[in-house]
Amino acid sequence: MKCLIRQPLRLVWPLLWTASIFADEIKTLPPPIANDTVKPADDFTLIVLPDTQGYADTRHRETQKHWPEMGDQRACFFGQTEWIKKNHEARNIALVTHVGDITQTEHDDEWKIADAAFKTIESHVPYVLCSGNHDMGYLPQLRKTSQSRASQFSRYFPPSRFTKNPLYDAHFAPERERHFREAGKTENYYLFFQACGMDFLVITLEFKPRDEAIAWANQVAERHPGHRIIVLTHGYLTKKGRLSEPDGYPIKGNSGQVIWEKFVSRHANIFLVLSGHAGESQLTSEGRHGNLVHQIQSDYWYFDLPRIKAGSGFLRILTFRPGEDRIQVETYSPVLDEFLTRPSSKFSLPYAMKKKSG
Ligand SMILES: [Zn+2]
Repeated sequence: MKCLIRQPLRLVWPLLWTASIFADEIKTLPPPIANDTVKPADDFTLIVLPDTQGYADTRHRETQKHWPEMGDQRACFFGQTEWIKKNHEARNIALVTHVGDITQTEHDDEWKIADAAFKTIESHVPYVLCSGNHDMGYLPQLRKTSQSRASQFSRYFPPSRFTKNPLYDAHFAPERERHFREAGKTENYYLFFQACGMDFLVITLEFKPRDEAIAWANQVAERHPGHRIIVLTHGYLTKKGRLSEPDGYPIKGNSGQVIWEKFVSRHANIFLVLSGHAGESQLTSEGRHGNLVHQIQSDYWYFDLPRIKAGSGFLRILTFRPGEDRIQVETYSPVLDEFLTRPSSKFSLPYAMKKKSG
């Protein structure tokens, strides 16, 4: 029997008829890659949306400075969330994560594009957002971001957008506002999700998390020793897959190295860190309790393959396979209908999961 993700009942029952009524729609899915033609029924998926700054950037036009022939790229953002909505049931998508740099200069026009993109899945697939360096403190006279933590992020995506949405009934404890570190702020918060009998918790941390944000995250993790914890934070690894060192952004906060030392490595139940910001890389480390922590960076804005420009719609598909105790990582663009198959783009990670059918 298919192992469904826990969702409100009103959303679960349509899954049963969608498969038959919309069989034609399912047939249009991109063909699976060669060695994954059989998908066990209890697999479930996490989608990672890497930096979308180039898609939202219709005003500042940073994209055209690098690729003069390129025009408005917002269709890439819309194409990603439309693909997620279309593949929600077929791929058993439990959650969508955005790893930051949602916008280029956090201008209203850019947030409105992000808002429109996420409205596509607003009532269909739960998502978690993460603030990046481009989502705060842009100073036009310097043409630089992260000059302060001032941001419209929480205006366009306030906590109430999630706490008042029935789709998130299973993702919050009864006191929903307590999931957010600061009242009215979406920069640091956490959500639960359940898949195949396993309890997961996703903590999203602001870019360069301040000491107080790290202290809060430690408290959240300590209060949930029975959950499998995933951490989102925008800047964490280098291009070469090492923990990041202190950077030149003027805002105060911590590097990937410190996030690892003061938070991630300390909890036996943290198994995955997802980040953006600096290309495509992966690092697996051993935490203080002997647990493996997989750290995956995804950012296709500047990429080393010249034909990939401003992201080209690439996203990550993390398929959890409880029957095999592994997580399959794939990189796919719904815009190009193409998988990247290099070792840094397509790989498998060991992760012990308690298999539970039904
Ligand atoms: Zn960034």
